[in-house]
Amino acid sequence: MNTYPKVSLGLFPTPMYRLPNMSRALGTNVWIKRDDLCGVALGGNKVRKLEYLLADAQAQGAELVMTTGQAQSNHAMLTAAGALRLGLEPVLVLKKRGICACRGNQILNRLMGAEVRFVDTDSYDTIYAEMDRIAAERGKSVYKIPCGGSNPLGTLGYVDCMREIAESGVRFDHIVCACGSGGTAAGTILGAALFLPGARVTAAMVDSDPFDRIVPELVRGAAGLLGTDAGLPAFDLLDMCGPGYSIPSEAGNEAIRLMLRLEGIVLDPCYTGKAFAGLVQLARAGAFQPDDNVLFLHTGGAGGLFAPDWEQA
Ligand SMILES: *Cc1c(COP(=O)(O)O)cnc(C)c1O
Repeated sequence: MNTYPKVSLGLFPTPMYRLPNMSRALGTNVWIKRDDLCGVALGGNKVRKLEYLLADAQAQGAELVMTTGQAQSNHAMLTAAGALRLGLEPVLVLKKRGICACRGNQILNRLMGAEVRFVDTDSYDTIYAEMDRIAAERGKSVYKIPCGGSNPLGTLGYVDCMREIAESGVRFDHIVCACGSGGTAAGTILGAALFLPGARVTAAMVDSDPFDRIVPELVRGAAGLLGTDAGLPAFDLLDMCGPGYSIPSEAGNEAIRLMLRLEGIVLDPCYTGKAFAGLVQLARAGAFQPDDNVLFLHTGGAGGLFAPDWEQA
């Protein structure tokens, strides 16, 4: 039913396995889906979205690929990596927010030679107008990817991920993922409804946008592309933002330490640490049964781990 073209960027299927020490610590079966290990740059969830979005850019004959986000955007870094591999020229028009210095993902952007422009605004309209201005200045055709790659087409990447998980034959009761621009959660919710019946999705919000509106819109948009009318599956939103988007939280840092000590797996302070803190919070509140299978989607973010000043943490 999905006939949208994709380019091949990542190494799929990504590994998925049960975490024995974490399961013992949390009193339920904790599994992990390692989309951080998908083989492009430092990996992460944006690769599945970009396989659709960059195929669309190629189909439209784009010369420039532009996207946006904050300074340490994993999505922008991965868009640059994917575009360069396909012979497309990346321009990252980033919001001048967060850690703009040459740290974390900015190091990778520089090593790739990706052009980075900072715009001091919080308005995406201003950002998209700047993208059009740059493209006109160059006289080149541009393909614009929204923040996080979260539009209905990009969302299909996580519908595919759920199909990939279903092929393992493991039955899941809960799936927990980070929610930053909404596409991953939306694709996970739609894909779980289609391929993993019985799995309830919790989207751990790491930003303060109105996800109760954004996520259902993306679910409907992606379902529309697929021509399915799954309706709007039930899902849960959990506020794990803490002191603010991309600002490390104490709960998130505790989750990072726990995962690293028990399982040797690296989480990040912006997304996966806070999302896993959500899973820990649910486990401690008794939301999971001892024989439940609870899947954590590791969506990447390693570059962001090396951006903040950890002397404070
Ligand atoms: C972007 C991102 C997310 C959130 O995914 P969205 O689809 O934007 O909600 C989660 N984890 C990491 C590491 C990310 O870079």
